[in-house]
Amino acid sequence: MHNLKCPICKSKKTQLIWNDKIRKGINSLTNEKKQIYRCLTCDVSFLKKRYSSLPDDAILRKVKDKKEIKKLHLFHTKRELPKLKKIMKIYNYNKKRVLLVNCDFGLTILDKIKKIAKLTAGISESDNSFYLKSYLKKKKHLFFDKLEQIISKKYKFDVIISPAQIEHVYDPSKYLNTFKKILSKTGVIILRVPNHDNIYKYILKKNFLNKDYRVSHNFYFTDKSCEYLFKKNKFKIIKKSGLMEHDVNNLLNYMRLGRRPMQYEKKRKNNNFLYLNKKVNKQLVDNLENSPLPSHLLYVIKAY
Ligand SMILES: [Zn+2]
Repeated sequence: MHNLKCPICKSKKTQLIWNDKIRKGINSLTNEKKQIYRCLTCDVSFLKKRYSSLPDDAILRKVKDKKEIKKLHLFHTKRELPKLKKIMKIYNYNKKRVLLVNCDFGLTILDKIKKIAKLTAGISESDNSFYLKSYLKKKKHLFFDKLEQIISKKYKFDVIISPAQIEHVYDPSKYLNTFKKILSKTGVIILRVPNHDNIYKYILKKNFLNKDYRVSHNFYFTDKSCEYLFKKNKFKIIKKSGLMEHDVNNLLNYMRLGRRPMQYEKKRKNNNFLYLNKKVNKQLVDNLENSPLPSHLLYVIKAY
């Protein structure tokens, strides 16, 4: 049997790493087995049958109801804000023109950046746009329906923030290259990418992977595969950092339960769930973010 060709580097040295059910929606699994391959040349992993657009049931974004969207937005803002803190720290937005792409969630980062930036804008391609539009307008950010709109209006940005998209897209190289058209000469892209080789995977193995592998992710990147992708598309790394999406108490609870700790379990504030105090937790998170095993990778890249 022939191995699959890697969609990033075109190598045929690929290896089947998963042939089982994966996550669909919030907590359910697919009925059928899905195959994920890892490229032995550039190190990226990918779904055998990639989706060219996100399957409806894979995400929550196709919600039409305004109240429901507001609720979702509040939920995600709470969830996203700690992750966005590091994005605030990694770059100086002073007097910059900043665009947040895929901004359904974590919109509030734009409100913060607006205080020092020259211009802030958001773009979304999801059906929530009408809500996003009114939110962005109210907060005096620019809003674009589509990337093409920015290109045709000849807007240029100094910073493009893409917090959670590259693992979803069909063609990451094309995704990055399209941004070149709307970046200023000194412009940078800030990417937050889930790290395939993270501490959860090594400790929890299948208990983690069968929920981490999901139909909405076409790709699973590592530090090595990100570097390959950037180089291939003529981007250099200006800055990089590890990022832990959750603290170490989350990891310990995951280990104890043998599954993902759910939001409502955290809300209970049961002391049994809080193994480590804030200070110890923070130290361990710092250590993990500086190790090869954080849950996410954060990059500032620039075209050359
Ligand atoms: Zn490859």
